[in-house]
Amino acid sequence: MAERFASVLGWKVLVLEQRSHIAGNCFDQKNEQGITVHQYGPHLFHTSKPEVWEYLSRFTDWHPYQHKVLAEVAGKLIPLPFNLNSLHLVYPAEQAIALEAKLLALYGAGNKVSITKLRETDDPELAELADWIYYNIFVNYTMRQWGIKAEEIAPEVLARVPVVLSRDDRYFHDTFQAIPAEGYTVLISRLLAHQNIEVQLKQNALDRIKLENGQVWLDGKPFNGKLIYTGMLDQLFVYQFGELPYRSLQFVFRQLDCPYFQTATTVNYPNAPDFTRITEFKHILAEPSDSTTIVTEYPQDYDKNDPERNIPYYPVFTADNQQRFEKYKILSAQYPQLIPLGRLAEYKYFNMDDAVDNALIRFNTILK
Ligand code: UDP
Repeated sequence: MAERFASVLGWKVLVLEQRSHIAGNCFDQKNEQGITVHQYGPHLFHTSKPEVWEYLSRFTDWHPYQHKVLAEVAGKLIPLPFNLNSLHLVYPAEQAIALEAKLLALYGAGNKVSITKLRETDDPELAELADWIYYNIFVNYTMRQWGIKAEEIAPEVLARVPVVLSRDDRYFHDTFQAIPAEGYTVLISRLLAHQNIEVQLKQNALDRIKLENGQVWLDGKPFNGKLIYTGMLDQLFVYQFGELPYRSLQFVFRQLDCPYFQTATTVNYPNAPDFTRITEFKHILAEPSDSTTIVTEYPQDYDKNDPERNIPYYPVFTADNQQRFEKYKILSAQYPQLIPLGRLAEYKYFNMDDAVDNALIRFNTILK
């Protein structure tokens, strides 16, 4: 939004960044081993939206990269999303062939079906397969990731990882898949490099902005521009309708004295006791190094008062939370200058490309 306002409209833009660096949770940097590490967990860019791809390509070259994930289940490593290759690894040959034929007949070769939908099947053998996938891959991982039961989370969350009726082992199936060749931080620094944009780091925006009677104030004066707010809406409105839940993560990084730790960038452990997945960064940009850096993700509740848990990574998608969010949204509409934007401020599970698309759409709406 800063880039759009500055370069299309020629507005002056002040970016108030809470952290000591730009790029938010996309922040990455090379470590001493020459491996690009994503400080806030693995970010793998993928989109089927040409306008998003075209927009970002103005600021970066790309390193072609197709993300692959394995899941350790029942002592085996199987491709995720669960696909026909996974099926043949899990089931004996004859049974796998029969199940494959049924899946293809019912859902069509090359298509995808969510686990929730697959579990609705009337066919007893497919129902058994659906249960196998659900209980071995989704139930425990989801409980650990979200702190609530798989049936309590919005079905769209599980549908992000559908059952795939092909032998395509890629995690995403979008048209464009690549990583910024020099990293996300460089991409964002180029976005912000416009002369009309001033970035101030280590700023608590909430100390400087005030919302009162439909008017936004900045540094003690009535403000006459737009306020793009990307933080938590409940915090902005001082929790007047209560707190919205978020999920946080603890990232444990390890530097290992071996060339590779695992064969895929990410290995999920759906049934591990307290972590969900391990990512090995050197796979992403194919960086040569004698050693390797991995990160393990331990999900936890967000707690604004605990420095170990005070980064909100995900809104928690339940009907109750959505209702509470709507109250904040209605309140925010009383401030025409205020534009809540992004995963936190809109309480939505945006992927990176959705976030860019959303910003471009919002900007074009304002333009009109
Ligand atoms: N999921 C799961 N087991 C897995 C992978 C994913 O149960 O091995 C579920 C889980 O609820 C997770 C959701 O599918 O939160 C979406 O997964 P995705 O990999 O898209 O999550 P993200 O990368 O955004 O954390």
